[in-house]
Amino acid sequence: MKTDPDCIFCKIASHEIPSTVIFENDEVIAFDDLSPQAPVHTLVIPKGHYDDIADDVPAHVLAAMTEAIREVAKAKGLAEGYRVITNKGADAGQTVMHFHMHVLGGKTLGEGLV
Ligand code: 5GP
Ligand code: ZN
Repeated sequence: MKTDPDCIFCKIASHEIPSTVIFENDEVIAFDDLSPQAPVHTLVIPKGHYDDIADDVPAHVLAAMTEAIREVAKAKGLAEGYRVITNKGADAGQTVMHFHMHVLGGKTLGEGLV
């Protein structure tokens, strides 16, 4: 598994930096965002380092991330729905260059996407 010793999310994946873990298996970890933008704001990341969604992310890792999103929704009681966002690159405002999906919910979210 490729990791980057200088990457903050690689350090969270290896538990070198503590986080509030919601779900974890061999491939992925889901943890609460440090600066939540909604009552529920959890990040789902692969444990291996990929820069963003356009990197060479294997299909089984994407499948594991999808499963983790479902587990987050269950753990957080998001039966009424939730939003999943991933930022890729400068135009999208990506600030952490380790692929991650934001799971947002716990309230009625705005209708717009941008
Ligand atoms: P981006 O803007 O790259 O899509 O999102 C990065 C997210 O990571 C932001 O929502 C930010 O609050 C979150 N974040 C940055 N550093 C940390 C950290 O050390 N711990 C946690 N839990 N979240 C972080
Ligand atoms: Zn990383």
